[in-house]
Amino acid sequence: MKNGRNTLKIQAESDPDFGRRVEDLSGQSISRCYQCGNCTASCAFTGDYDFPINQVMRLVQLGQKDTVLQCRAIWICGQCQACTVRCPCTLDVARVMATLRIMALENGYVADKNLRRFSEEFMRSVALFGRVYEMGLLATYKVRSGTVLADLDLAPQLLKTGKLSFVPHRIQGRRQVAALVKRFSKIF
Ligand code: SF4
Ligand code: SF4
Repeated sequence: MKNGRNTLKIQAESDPDFGRRVEDLSGQSISRCYQCGNCTASCAFTGDYDFPINQVMRLVQLGQKDTVLQCRAIWICGQCQACTVRCPCTLDVARVMATLRIMALENGYVADKNLRRFSEEFMRSVALFGRVYEMGLLATYKVRSGTVLADLDLAPQLLKTGKLSFVPHRIQGRRQVAALVKRFSKIF
């Protein structure tokens, strides 16, 4: 882990309604998680998380609302669903992570302005093109966050392997996707 400790810090105060609310919103019975660790072992980002995904699940069970909604892991998650397909309890763990991200926004827990900016630009890109246009997203995010020169050395490799394109790929049904994004935006 980035914090080098991989230990849970349990707050004395817990919010018993928090776990219930996460279960309701995500549709997942998080209380069934028995900490096997399969999700953490499957996650490519575990080394970058402040709390590995199994600990996020445990913190939710313990009603640790502040710790969970302020953690960086819920923002680093790439929604690849590797955790979901390997959970022996058939929990949609990726959906839980997405739910926590929405709850963090909804409750004003996102202290890092750049996280919020990235999220806004991501959704704007999806609304415009029906899917993310990575080059456009990077450009607008970097200008807004004042990080224009950061990670520029990675660009040639990404361009060479086709991971970045100069033109957006538009999909069919963009209007419907834009309507979904608009509906989602009304939550906040
Ligand atoms: S794989 Fe499922 S049961 Fe195992 S720790 Fe992760 S969420 Fe819990
Ligand atoms: S969905 Fe998120 S938490 Fe699950 S394996 Fe992928 S990146 Fe990790």
